[in-house]
This record gives sequence, C-alpha cells and structure tokens, in this order.
Amino acid sequence: SVKNSGKNGYKYFNYSMMEHQITKSNIEFVLRDAIENDGFKIVYQPQINVRNGEIAGYEALLRLRDFDFSPAEFIDIAEKNGMIIKIGRIVTEKVIEQLNQWKEKGLEIKPVAINFSANQLHDYGYISFVESLLEKYHLDARYIEIEITENIFLENKQVTLAFLKNLKQMGIKIAIDDFGTGYSSLNYLTFLPVDIVKLDRSLNLKFLEMNNVKVMNSLISLVHSLGLVVIAEGIETLEQVKKLDEAYCDYIQGYYFSKPIEANQIIAINSKIYDLY
Ligand code: C2E
Ligand code: MG
Ligand code: MG
Ligand code: MG
Repeated sequence: SVKNSGKNGYKYFNYSMMEHQITKSNIEFVLRDAIENDGFKIVYQPQINVRNGEIAGYEALLRLRDFDFSPAEFIDIAEKNGMIIKIGRIVTEKVIEQLNQWKEKGLEIKPVAINFSANQLHDYGYISFVESLLEKYHLDARYIEIEITENIFLENKQVTLAFLKNLKQMGIKIAIDDFGTGYSSLNYLTFLPVDIVKLDRSLNLKFLEMNNVKVMNSLISLVHSLGLVVIAEGIETLEQVKKLDEAYCDYIQGYYFSKPIEANQIIAINSKIYDLY
C-alpha cells in the first residue's frame, strides 16, 4: 500500500539520517570558514605534577570561536575531508604564538602538548613549519610536545618512525595519547621514540573505581621501567587522585584540578600550587 511504501521510504530517508547529513555539511562549512577567517581558538588544560602540585605543562585543545561543535564532532570530519592538514598547522602556529606572548609577558613558560592526527603524517612540510616558527620566536623545542594516538601505527611504519625521530631530534617530546583504547600492544613502546604515556580516561575509570588498583600500579611501573613518564587523563575525583598518587603516577590532567581554560586565564594560575588532597 501507499502507506507501507511510505514507511519503507522513510527507512532510507529518515529524519535523523538527513539531520546527520545536514549537520555534517554544516560542520564542513563552518570548518572551511574557520580556516579562512580565524574562527579557531585554543584552550589550555593544566597537567599537574603529582609530587609537588605544580603545573608541569598544558594540553592545547581546539575550539571553534563561534560554534559549540566539539572536537569530538569535527576532528573526525576534518580528518576525513583532509582539512586536518590546514587545521593542524593553525593549531601549531597558535600555540607557538601563544607561548611567545606568555614569554613576552614575563610568564614562566611551560611545555604545551599539541594533538596530532595520523593524517598529518602526510603533511610533509610540518616539521620544518614547526622549526621555523620556533626559530621566529626564539623558543626552545622543549616547550612543544606532540600527542599521537596508537592508530598512527596503522600508517606506514617507516614514515611514522622517521617523522617521530625527526621530532625527537629537534628536542620535541612525544606522548602516546588515549593509551589503553586502541591497538593495544606494549611492544611499540620499546622501539618508538616516545617519552610520555597518557592513560586514557576509560582506563582510569576501569582501574581506579573498581578497586582494581593493582593493575594500575603494575601498568605505571611497567611504563616507568621503559623510562617513560605517565600522565593520567580525565581525572575527576579525589578518590582517583589518591590512588594515582599511591601508584606513583607522575602527572594528572582532569576536571578535578581544572577544565581547559582560555589563554588569558593562564597568567593567573600558571604558578599556582595545587593541593592534591
Ligand atoms: P584528547 O586529546 O584525549 O583530549 C582530552 C579530552 O578530554 C579533551 O576533550 C578534554 O577537554 C577532555 N577532558 C579533560 N579532562 C576531563 C575530565 O576530567 N573528564 C572528562 N570527561 N573529560 C575531560 P576535547 O577538548 O573535547 O577534545 C576531544 C578530542 O579531540 C581530544 O582528545 C583529541 O583527540 C581531539 N582534539 C582536540 N583538539 C585537537 C587538535 O588540536 N588537533 C587534533 N588532531 N585533535 C584534537
Ligand atoms: Mg590529547
Ligand atoms: Mg586522550
Ligand atoms: Mg582522545
């Protein structure tokens, strides 16, 4: 009947699919516009040194100035349509310019970690782009860290390794982001030039809140035995902080201490000593 075929029709053209398409093309439009008209900004989330409560550094997180779309909604799209190459350079440039501004204001500058998509491995000029920006502002490479995720190892191994080695040679530290969520082989930690392991929020939830602290302790000591340092991500509760402290975690990042904040607010908190508990 007409009614049934209508119903079938809706299966192929239902509202939520259409909405999804509209949202996606809206996001693409917004991203294209943001690339051309300086529509991006960076917020910074402190990483707290568990030993002394000082801010050891920050993670740079991308935001749209005029829209509420979160990176979870738009990074994926930008990776698929290739815009991530330009966006990655915009983020890098903004962070380095920001470091320079902080320096000029007399702030004690601390390292900032930049998220790097696997797709950006195809940006062959990226490393010299970073190099020339650091030179332009007379900034040491140790103020920049690059966060990669485990899925970068699905890319060409030679290309990945060469890229990471080049960064390392410049003095840039490399962090494995979202550790525990992906291609979970500990093997690569032994041969890749990685400095920092960031334990993912989901892993922290699993091993800290289920009273399964032994696993967390062993994981952290394993990372330490490889000569790497550990940052726990997405930490929201006192309980988690205590357990991470007991497990000798090095740094903690999460809402418990601070949400990501605007660059101009960093000045007020940069030398703050946080009480762990
Ligand atoms: P990520 O790199 O793992 O960043 C951590 C995410 O967790 C951030 O989300 C941060 O705001 C959030 N977060 C921090 N503390 C807590 C907490 O205590 N609880 C909870 N529930 N969340 C917390 P955000 O800023 O929405 O970014 C999401 C993801 O988007 C990032 O995950 C990263 O993969 C990607 N991303 C963000 N900025 C960039 C960028 O500039 N370039 C690239 N390629 N990816 C980016
Ligand atoms: Mg990250
Ligand atoms: Mg992460
Ligand atoms: Mg992530």
